[in-house]
Amino acid sequence: MVSVPARVDVVVIGAGQAGLSVAYYLQRLGVRPGVDQIVLDRGPGAGGAWQHRWAALRLGSAHRVHDLPGMRRAGISFETADRARPARDVVGEYYAHYERFFGLDVRRPVAVAAVYDRGSDLVVRSTAGETVARVVVNATGTWGAPFVPYYPGMRDFAGRQVHTSTYRDAAEFEGQRVLVVGGGTSAIGFLLELEGVAAKTTWAVRRPVDYLQQGTLDLEAAVNAVAQQDDAAREGRALPSIVSGTGVPLTRRIAAAMERGVLQERPMFGHLEAHAAVWADGWREPVDAIVWATGFRPDIRHLSPLRLHEKAGGVTVASGAAERDPRIFFAGYGPTASTVGANRAGRSLARQVYAALGGPTQPLE
Ligand code: FAD
Repeated sequence: MVSVPARVDVVVIGAGQAGLSVAYYLQRLGVRPGVDQIVLDRGPGAGGAWQHRWAALRLGSAHRVHDLPGMRRAGISFETADRARPARDVVGEYYAHYERFFGLDVRRPVAVAAVYDRGSDLVVRSTAGETVARVVVNATGTWGAPFVPYYPGMRDFAGRQVHTSTYRDAAEFEGQRVLVVGGGTSAIGFLLELEGVAAKTTWAVRRPVDYLQQGTLDLEAAVNAVAQQDDAAREGRALPSIVSGTGVPLTRRIAAAMERGVLQERPMFGHLEAHAAVWADGWREPVDAIVWATGFRPDIRHLSPLRLHEKAGGVTVASGAAERDPRIFFAGYGPTASTVGANRAGRSLARQVYAALGGPTQPLE
């Protein structure tokens, strides 16, 4: 059975790219894994949210995936990873190697249910017990908080409805008429997978997809999207979708699918019926199943006892820490919700956490 220490300086919640990056940089500053810091993760294995993604997803199919900090020393890189294998396997093995190589103390499966303010301490309550901490770094990503917008008639729809987070593979939809909702790379990926397997696909988007004339997208270079996320986080607003700020990279695979007529966008339908989607102009499309590729929200329910939320719907996070409680740091949140952003957050947050613990300023390469 997994155990947790009664007291530790830093608890990092989440062992995805963001949590591992923070743990790595903290260690380099002398915050010792297993002694001064622990990482708690509810997943069964290494790989962050990647371990739960669908089998057909490949690494770097649309966005660039960055190596974790220091990984080149460990002798492996995403750049030379086998892109023919499922991303979930490649990333799982990579993160497992990283944890071992740098001796990070990741305890799993340990789900954090709540974080409480107990005067000068924070109490992290998890499935493995309670740990008192001075600082908490929240790196829980978004996978556990799928977002599905409301449309009239959703409850009447008699077919199957899945979200990106519960999509497994195209074979589950063999011979069915499938409605895919959403204008991002995941939606497009599903449409391509379903081609020739589903009887028919229909694609509904809220706004026309903005295709970028480049093969893959470095999310950090998507300055506009990062700035939009940063503004929202600083103002305590709900975070906007990344795709609304980046557009979708026009890979060769996507361009070829467009030529085949697989990617025909329709505007959003007006309502759903038991076996159909109905558009405002009266068009009725028979539908057996719906795939909602409609994004995620930050998964931070366990922080609710701390009352960090603003009326505007989000948590005000400036320079990585919650404005309402500067002992709570956020990695992989808003502008740092990409593999490169997570690395950047790790480096800067580790310094801030170290300073919050009373450590002297130290350079980090
Ligand atoms: P995650 O990888 O989600 O890790 C969070 C961890 O926290 C998980 O391991 C989870 O188990 C744990 N956790 C959550 N809640 C709790 C709790 N209460 N208690 C304990 N543990 C908890 N970015 C890119 O840069 N390139 C890409 O190609 C790319 N592709 C993507 C494809 C999809 C389909 C999606 C959804 C996102 C993609 N992203 C991509 C964004 C991607 O999510 C981030 O880049 C990055 O991997 C997220 O890292 P993270 O550490 O913030 O979160």
